[in-house]
Amino acid sequence: PIGLSSRYRFSNFIKGSSNELAASAAWSVAQDPGARFNPFFIYGGVGLGKTHLLHAIGHHIHVARPHLRIVYQSAERFMNEFISAVRFNQFDQFRARYRQDCDVLLIDDIQFIAGRDRTMDEFFHVFNALYEAEKQIVVTADRMPGDMQGMEDRLISRLNWGLVADIKAPDLETRVAILKQKADIDRIDLPDDVALHLATHVRSNVRELEGSLVRVSTFASLKNQPLTREFVSEALGVSSAPAQAAPISIESVQKVVASHFSVRIADLKGPRRHQGISRPRMIAMYLSRQLTGASFPEIGLRFGGKDHSTVINACKRIESIQSEDSELRETVAALRQLLAHEPT
Ligand code: ADP
Ligand code: MG
Repeated sequence: PIGLSSRYRFSNFIKGSSNELAASAAWSVAQDPGARFNPFFIYGGVGLGKTHLLHAIGHHIHVARPHLRIVYQSAERFMNEFISAVRFNQFDQFRARYRQDCDVLLIDDIQFIAGRDRTMDEFFHVFNALYEAEKQIVVTADRMPGDMQGMEDRLISRLNWGLVADIKAPDLETRVAILKQKADIDRIDLPDDVALHLATHVRSNVRELEGSLVRVSTFASLKNQPLTREFVSEALGVSSAPAQAAPISIESVQKVVASHFSVRIADLKGPRRHQGISRPRMIAMYLSRQLTGASFPEIGLRFGGKDHSTVINACKRIESIQSEDSELRETVAALRQLLAHEPT
C-alpha cells in the first residue's frame, strides 16, 4: 500500500522489555484488525520504533488480507490533504478516502494536529465513522493522549478507548541485539565486544544507535581498518576501557536479574518460593556474592531481610546446578557480562 516502507517489518523488529507490550499488541492488531484493540495507540520518544511498528502492522494486514484497504498517513499529511480538499472543493474525495474506502487507518505522529482545530474536528469525524464501522484505527504519538497540549478533550477520550501502549528507550541487551541485526543487514563485521561497547555508550534511541554504527563502520572502512573497541572510542570520543570502574551494586544485580527473567524486583526480595521466582532470586544472591563483595548477612538484608544461611544455601545451590547444567552456566555468564557493562 502507498506510503508503507518495506524496511519496517515485524520480522526485523527486535523485542525487549522496553517495547514488549507495544510489539505484542501490534502483532495482535495485525492478526485480527478491528477486533481486539481498537483504537490502538502507541506512544514514545523519538526514534524508538513507533513508525516501524505502524508500518509492520500495515504490511502484515496487506499480505494476510489483501482485500482490506489500508490507509497510512502522517498526521501532517492528513492535515495538508484536508486543507487542499477544502480549498479545491474536493471534500468528497477526501471523505471517501478516509471514511468510506478505508478498512484500516494508520496515522503517524498525531500530536502534530494538536491545536489545529479544524483538522482535529475532521479527524474526530473520521475516527467516529471508522470506529462505528468496526474498522481498525492505529495512532502513534510522542506522548500519551492526555499529555498532548491543545488536543481536544473528546479526541483524547476516544484515543484512550482502546489499548494505549508505550515504547521506552531500549535496555542494553536490546541495544546490542538491534546493533547485531543492523550489522547483519548492512554486512558490517561487528565483533561482540564492539557491539557491547557501542551499545554501552549510545543509549538515547534506536535511530542514533543505528546511525552511530553506520558512522563508525564507514570511518573504519575509509581508514581500511577493522572495527575495534578503540575505533569506536575514538569516533565517539569515549574511553575504551571496559565500563568496569564503577563497583557493581546489589541493586544493579537485582535490576538486571529481574529484567532478564521478567520478574519484579519486589519478588526477588519477597518470600514467594515458586520456581519462576526462587531460581532468579538464588541467581541474584549468587551474583551479589560474586560481584559486589558484600557479606552473606548484608545480602540477606538487601533481599528483604532473609537469614544469611538462606543466602549461603542459594550460593551453594547455584554453584552445584551450574556444574551440571550448561544452560544455567550460560545464563549466569551472560548476566555477568551485562552487569559488567550496565551503568550503575
Ligand atoms: P519513531 O517513529 O518512534 O521515531 P522509528 O520507528 O522511525 O522511530 O525508528 C527509528 C529507527 O530505528 C528505524 O530505522 C527503525 O527501524 C529502528 N528501530 C526502532 N526500534 C527498533 C527495534 N525494536 N528493532 C529494530 N529496529 C528498530
Ligand atoms: Mg516516527
